[in-house]
Amino acid sequence: MNPFTYDQFPARIVFGAGRLAEVGAEVERLGGQRVMLISDWATAQSAAAVSRQLGSRLALAWDEVAQHVPVELAERARAAATEAAVDCIVCIGGGSSTGLAKAMALSHNLPIVAVPTTYAGSEQTAIYGLTGGRHKQTGKNPVVLPKTVVYDPELTLGLPPQVTGPSAFNALAHSVEALYAPGNNPITSALALEGVRAIHQSLPMVMESPGDVDARGTLLYGAYLSGVALGTTSTGLHHKLCHVLGGRFNLVHADAHSVILPHAIAFNAPALPAEMARLADALGVPGGDPAAALWDLAVASHVPTRLADLSGHDGLLKREDLPGAAHAAAEEITVNPRPVNEADLLGILERAYEGVRP
Ligand code: NAD
Repeated sequence: MNPFTYDQFPARIVFGAGRLAEVGAEVERLGGQRVMLISDWATAQSAAAVSRQLGSRLALAWDEVAQHVPVELAERARAAATEAAVDCIVCIGGGSSTGLAKAMALSHNLPIVAVPTTYAGSEQTAIYGLTGGRHKQTGKNPVVLPKTVVYDPELTLGLPPQVTGPSAFNALAHSVEALYAPGNNPITSALALEGVRAIHQSLPMVMESPGDVDARGTLLYGAYLSGVALGTTSTGLHHKLCHVLGGRFNLVHADAHSVILPHAIAFNAPALPAEMARLADALGVPGGDPAAALWDLAVASHVPTRLADLSGHDGLLKREDLPGAAHAAAEEITVNPRPVNEADLLGILERAYEGVRP
C-alpha cells in the first residue's frame, strides 16, 4: 500500500426519490433567510415547488443560465444578488445552473444547496468555470463547493435521451480519468470504479425505459460518485480536450465527452495497464479493452460518437478546426501518464472526428 493524502470534502448528501420536498428544510439548516433560487426552463416546475417551501425566504428567482457560464451572465446575476441582499443559493438543474451558483458563491461567499437534475457532477467539485470571448477559464476554490446536495431521481425522469446519454458519459469520464489524474488515491479509485459500475449497469436500462425511477436512481448514484471522484482528484487529457472544444466552439459540453472519451482512453491505456484492467472489469469486459468497451457503450446508448456530427458557434465542426484545438489543448496539458504532444492530440481529435471504434 503506497502512502497517500486525501482531502475529503465535507458535503451533506440527501439522496432519494421525493426528497426535493426537503430543500426548504435544508436551507433552514444552513440559516438561509434571503434565498436566490436558480433554475432554467426545464426545471421550472421543481423550482416552483421549492419556492412554495421557501415562502417569504425567497428573495430572488433567477431562470437564465447558460453552458460554460458566460462572464456577462454571471455579472448580471451577481448584481441582482447584491441588490436583493441574498444570503443563500438554491440551484436546480444541470451543470449550467450549478455553474452559475458557483460563480455567485465565488464573488459573494454564499452557501449553496444544489439540486442536480443531470449527471454532470459539478455539485461535488470545487471547480468553477467562466467563459469570456471564446476562452473558458476554470479554477478551484472550496468556497464554491455546495454545502448540501439533494439528489432526487424523480427530477431526472423527464431528462430527454439526447441529454441523458451524453450527460452520463460526462459522469463516466469523471470516474475514468479519476483512475489516473493527479490526486488519485485508493479511496478515489474505489469511488470511481463503483461509479463506472453503476453507470455501466444503469445507462442502457435508462435509455430503454427513461421513466424507470430505480434505474434513474442508480445512474444518479453513479454520477454522484463520479463527481466526488473528479472533485477530489483532478482532470486529465480527456477533460482538457473537452474544455478546449467547449470553450472554442461552444459545443454541447456532454456531447464532446461521449465522443472524445474512448479515444482519449485508447491513447492513455498503454501507460496504465493496472488501471485499465480494473476499468475493464467495471465495464463488464474482464481482460478486454476498456476503450473499445466505452465506444460500444456509447453506440448502445445512442450518444454521439463523431466530432463531425457536433455543432457549435459556426455550425458543424470542420476538420480544419482540429489543428487549432490540438494546439490550444497542448498548451493546457501539463501532466499525462503517457507523454503527449500536439501531433498526438491532433491524432486523437481526428479519430474522434471520424468516429472510428478504437
Ligand atoms: P445543462 O445544465 O446545460 O443541461 C443540459 C440540458 O438539459 C439543458 O437544456 C437543460 O435545460 C436540460 N435539463 C436539465 N435538467 C433537466 C431535467 N430534469 N429535465 C429535462 N431537461 C433538463 O448541461 P450539463 O451537461 O448538465 O452541464 C454542463 C455544464 O456544466 C458545462 O458548462 C460544464 O462545463 C459544467 N460542468 C462543470 C463541472 C465542474 O466540476 N465544475 C463538472 C461537469 C460539468
